[in-house]
Amino acid sequence: MSKIKYQKPTINKIDFAMASKYGSPMKTQKIRSEIDGVKVSDLTQKYGSPLFVFSQRKMEELYHNLHSAFSSRYPDVTFGWSYKTNYLNEICKVYHDLGSIAEVVSEFEYQKARALGIEGKDIIFNGPYKPYADLKIAVREGAKIHVDNLFELDDLEKIADELNMKIPVAIRINMDTGIYPQWSRFGFNYESGEAYEAVKRIYDGGKVYLNGLHTHIGTFMLDSNAYKVATIKIMQLKEQVERDFKSQIDYIDLGGGFASKANLKGVYQSADVIVPTPDDYAEAITNVIYEMNKSENLPKLFLETGRGMIDEAGFLLTSVHGYKRFPDAKKGYILDAGVNLLYTSTWFNYNIELDKRYEGDNEASILNGPLCMNIDVIEESIMLPPLNRGTILSVSPVGAYNYTQAMQFIRYKPAVVLIDKDGQAKLIKDVDDLGTVNHKEA
Ligand SMILES: *Cc1c(COP(=O)(O)O)cnc(C)c1O
Repeated sequence: MSKIKYQKPTINKIDFAMASKYGSPMKTQKIRSEIDGVKVSDLTQKYGSPLFVFSQRKMEELYHNLHSAFSSRYPDVTFGWSYKTNYLNEICKVYHDLGSIAEVVSEFEYQKARALGIEGKDIIFNGPYKPYADLKIAVREGAKIHVDNLFELDDLEKIADELNMKIPVAIRINMDTGIYPQWSRFGFNYESGEAYEAVKRIYDGGKVYLNGLHTHIGTFMLDSNAYKVATIKIMQLKEQVERDFKSQIDYIDLGGGFASKANLKGVYQSADVIVPTPDDYAEAITNVIYEMNKSENLPKLFLETGRGMIDEAGFLLTSVHGYKRFPDAKKGYILDAGVNLLYTSTWFNYNIELDKRYEGDNEASILNGPLCMNIDVIEESIMLPPLNRGTILSVSPVGAYNYTQAMQFIRYKPAVVLIDKDGQAKLIKDVDDLGTVNHKEA
């Protein structure tokens, strides 16, 4: 019989404040052994660890919940999938197949949408920096150009001359919706009159004309009333412009920003309690349009949905590599995924689940990533039973922004798997190996 290895005894403070009607924090374990019927251990065995996993069922559920909240209230609503939230081809395709057009903020994203077969007319081109050559291509292909600044307007007038055409555009408006800090660096300001001036400038130039008004008031918006305020201001401007310039604004675009059920750091109440429902958001926007519309036709309504439609569909599987006992007696685990893959860890407390039940009492532990950087911490303190090397933790929700913002830093970017509607896992992105082996996107 082998001798049991000596481990230095430690004394840990037990935090009884954490005990609740659900039982003792010393025994509670959150378990996730599978995603849509596929065992997490099979996934990491086949595709490696760490691994991003997306559930198509959840993506479609989130889409339908949000879309039906709007389409049941309003006759003409279109969603634009926000590419930067997650622009893996197979992810974009899911939303395009459901009926979303594309919302892009760079020439790279524009090209990606075109390569996926999306026509120019079904691409909303946003962003403060649109290179001239790419702007010209987008104009020629009939994209919905949302003007951010006067330099871009100059470019568009020049392009209008070059192409000998009058270009339809929308302008982005920023405004005070009662949410601070205000996102005032994009587009033209409403309250100062800058937005109205920009419209005037458009009509004075006579080379482009206005057919849409756009705003994107922020992200992870926990107050649906902000959308009400935004819609009021957009509708006011629409009425003013149509009256003063004898024009017709075809569409309004209220952007994205709908929150996912993620838990913000430093917020006491859980996401289930504070995140507005799709109905709350839809009600706030559509009621105002009905109340304020003075035109013969209702404007077309566009929304640019990102995190609210994918965050909860994404998981990061990561494995325990080892652990240490720190001088303050705290247990620190070393995982194979860290802040290189979890950009949003600065703002959110993730849901962290074990692949199976483990023996032993919980103790407050730290979850560190694999980077040789002191900042590489996923969780400062989490109650966990003793875990061995190889234990798989699933971290969620991480479907929004984490993959697109993951850094090729110290370690390779991991593979990505999509579990389709039939519960079949398929590789949609290989490990990014910097070209040592041919980099490919399936
Ligand atoms: C990022 C972005 C979105 C999507 O925002 P979410 O908060 O993820 O919904 C929509 N519109 C614009 C202009 C954006 O930049």
